[in-house]
Amino acid sequence: MTVLGIDVGGTYTKWAALEGDTLRDSGTVPTPPGPEETMRLAASLAQRVESIGIGLPGHVDRDTGTALFVPNPPGDWDGYPVADRLRELTGVPVSVVNDARAFARAELELGAARGLADVLFAVLGTGVGGAVALRGAVLTGPRDNLGEIGHLTVCPGGPVCGCGNEGCLETFAGGPGIVRAFGSGTAAQVADAARAGDGRAVKAFERAGWALGVALGDAAALLGVGSVVVGGGVSGALDLMRFALYAELARRRPLIGDLAVLPAALGPMAGAVGAALYGRRSG
Ligand SMILES: [Zn+2]
Repeated sequence: MTVLGIDVGGTYTKWAALEGDTLRDSGTVPTPPGPEETMRLAASLAQRVESIGIGLPGHVDRDTGTALFVPNPPGDWDGYPVADRLRELTGVPVSVVNDARAFARAELELGAARGLADVLFAVLGTGVGGAVALRGAVLTGPRDNLGEIGHLTVCPGGPVCGCGNEGCLETFAGGPGIVRAFGSGTAAQVADAARAGDGRAVKAFERAGWALGVALGDAAALLGVGSVVVGGGVSGALDLMRFALYAELARRRPLIGDLAVLPAALGPMAGAVGAALYGRRSG
């Protein structure tokens, strides 16, 4: 039986049809202008599926399937009854989950963290998301918000973050933070410049790696995990951050041991695959 997973992003929405653990089909479309239009898109994709899982970039109430605080996709999502509305349109059960938890579950069951029990997850994109798995289960929290590593303070008094705080990991290791440190372009262009030897670009990624090392090192000390999976669009430049990242982790080695830094294995569809795993009727 097929389960549909949908990963609603700020700009693009990805979907994956999962049969057992096999990805049968997937795709990417621009995110529609609001929640109602997104539900109609989801319903149009939900032909001959037994259930649906939908991942949202924000806080959700998993019990009621309601969006609580979802600021980035277009339209007014807060309070929108996602599961009720999509069930009404499709007639099949619907589960709603946070997108970082979906990413983590996909990588834990089918990707880079397969077989591991205690793992941190960091998703480097426009924002920096995160999740925690302990004893083989991804932890959730009351608003499905447990594990938001992007908003650990790595530099008190540092750049202002969208969350209201200053000096969060996200302000250094998210795409816009890297671009700001360099001065212009996109994160991918800054990575190209760094690989071509541009000193400012190299520095921007060193700073991102340092910030990531501080946050991952502290989180590993707090949680006692031995591995971290790093994914998201900006993680393609993980090689440019490694030196500074490992220097921070090495400083904490007596406390955290050798934290294994694993690149995510499932690529851009991880969130949609994870949403489908949460959409399974048993899960
Ligand atoms: Zn923040």
